[in-house]
Amino acid sequence: MVNQSEKERWLLASTFLNLIMAVGKLIVGVFTNTSVIVADGIHSLSDVVGALLIYASIKLAGKKSKRFPFGMHKLEDFAAFAGGLTIIYAGYEIIKGVVLNHNQTRVNHIFIGTAFLFAVLILQITFAYFEMKSSKKLNSPGVNTDLLNWISDVGTTVVAILGIILSYYGIPYAQKIAVIIIVLVILKEAYNIIKDAFLTLLDASVDTSILKKAEIIIKSHPEIDNIETLFIRKAGSIFIADIVLQIRAKGMETAHDIIEEIERKLKESIDHLEIVTIHYEPAKKKNLKIARFLAQEGEIAQRLRDVAFVEVEEKDEKGNTLSLYKYENPYFEQGRGHSIRLIAWLIKQNVDMIIFHPLEMDSEKLELFESLGIKIEK
Ligand SMILES: [Zn+2]
Repeated sequence: MVNQSEKERWLLASTFLNLIMAVGKLIVGVFTNTSVIVADGIHSLSDVVGALLIYASIKLAGKKSKRFPFGMHKLEDFAAFAGGLTIIYAGYEIIKGVVLNHNQTRVNHIFIGTAFLFAVLILQITFAYFEMKSSKKLNSPGVNTDLLNWISDVGTTVVAILGIILSYYGIPYAQKIAVIIIVLVILKEAYNIIKDAFLTLLDASVDTSILKKAEIIIKSHPEIDNIETLFIRKAGSIFIADIVLQIRAKGMETAHDIIEEIERKLKESIDHLEIVTIHYEPAKKKNLKIARFLAQEGEIAQRLRDVAFVEVEEKDEKGNTLSLYKYENPYFEQGRGHSIRLIAWLIKQNVDMIIFHPLEMDSEKLELFESLGIKIEK
């Protein structure tokens, strides 16, 4: 199981740090009348909302119930989706408030502004560095989203610093351009979050590299004839696989063991694959082998002890005869055990069907044919 509480801790810390930054940026921005810092403050506010949503969903996603036996992993994707929309709204607010406003252009307090933003930058880089180290093993879309957010926030802080310095030295529109860049970063960030969350919510399949890996594992098993369906999807931090296989093994129990082994291998070699459902069916045989039990005179036999000849015909899917051999029954008139030996010989020949006109007395032996998967045509 993925470490639930570690994910929760990261998102809680992220929410808290974003809140401190939002308050700090808004105070410093308003106090120094620096629009780019105000814009970045609004940006941080949207990050508070985003991180909080992810935190709530991770907390809920780990809870399993009768109604949600797999847990509510998709809530994580849903929150990421909602968080993305919030960030787009924040971007719109910044454009409305700063870029379309023709008044504030020049920066007056360069020292307070840049010193403050450098402190912010150091905090952001430190936080992102440690979160990145954790996110590699957590594989949580929530934590990954949060990390991406911090990385792009480092970028927006650098842009804000440049905007303030250039604007202070009289370069026209420097601050507005910086604000526009910050908004573009916010929008791109939001787009990525929304796209991923949306695809997962719609049960899009995972990367082809993961599918390929699963395919190789399954096909490496000699008893697997064909993979009919192989579908792996994501839900929050986990993968779920639905597989239909055609299997060559005859007995139910052997088939079951093979399926269990494949399931174990898949879970071993694909990280975060937690739920595997495998259905299996017998492999479709292309050709059909039919044995006719013939008595001495060439008519269809009525008792196993009367079988003098066995005519074996192999047909393809369309019913065309591929081969036809007539064998003398090697165990004819051999007394005790003749029918069991005949049955063993038919199994060795890989016969699928027998044509025979049996009487009541052989019914026990006929049951044996049925249980071996050989049909009897009367
Ligand atoms: Zn952000």
